[in-house]
Amino acid sequence: MSKRLAVVVAHPDDDTYACAATVVRHADDPSFRFVLAHATSGEAGEISDPTLATRETLGAVREEEDRRSWVTLGREPDRHEWFRYPDGSLSHVPFEDLVRRIEGVLADERPDVVLTFGLDGITGHPDHITCGAATTVAFHRLRQSGAGGFSRLIWGAVPQRTVDQWNAWREEMGEEAFDPTRMYHPRGVPDETIGFEAEFDLVVARRVVASLREHLTQAGDLDTMPEEQRIESVRRERGVLAWPVWRPGDRVLTDLFDGLD
Ligand SMILES: [Zn+2]
Repeated sequence: MSKRLAVVVAHPDDDTYACAATVVRHADDPSFRFVLAHATSGEAGEISDPTLATRETLGAVREEEDRRSWVTLGREPDRHEWFRYPDGSLSHVPFEDLVRRIEGVLADERPDVVLTFGLDGITGHPDHITCGAATTVAFHRLRQSGAGGFSRLIWGAVPQRTVDQWNAWREEMGEEAFDPTRMYHPRGVPDETIGFEAEFDLVVARRVVASLREHLTQAGDLDTMPEEQRIESVRRERGVLAWPVWRPGDRVLTDLFDGLD
């Protein structure tokens, strides 16, 4: 059985959140191949500390942070593509150009599983939504060409119960709850629509947190969270099964490759 995974995301650090724990799980399996593509280098993002980067250098700095995050995790991608489209403007790139760029990588690789964003982009970020839409089109074109691979398409997602948990923590810290109508705030999907949910132990979760810390320019919520919450928030990877069609009540997959043998 081959375990070929392709992950297509918009920005450096999206990948770590999306699949780092799964990559640890399969790291030493000789049949595991991990292909990663970034649509942008994240050069429009946050600069948490001006000694780390300037607006001009941020893209290159974030690519390096991303590479280091996989080294720290202990399993680097077998292939890593940077498309270097403009961060924040992916939706302005001619859609067909983006699809073809993604198709080029996926056609070489014929992965068993493709992981990307769904319609909500998790945070509503237009780059996420565009990246997921283009990857979905590329996936179906190649799947229909019938030359193998493309058994499963997963859209990374956060169940509503998790957003509720995060909001409870935020309330304890005196912070405002996430508002799913606002950009960059997480959108929960109905719990019963989660078709993939993998759980990991504390050892794996700690490796993921260490990997996330390499994204030094992106001092996100993770840094302000108590350690216990930080670990808890990376202990699960979840998604919606975009292909094949999955319905609430069908068995929930506990691994990206679950049932593909
Ligand atoms: Zn992102």
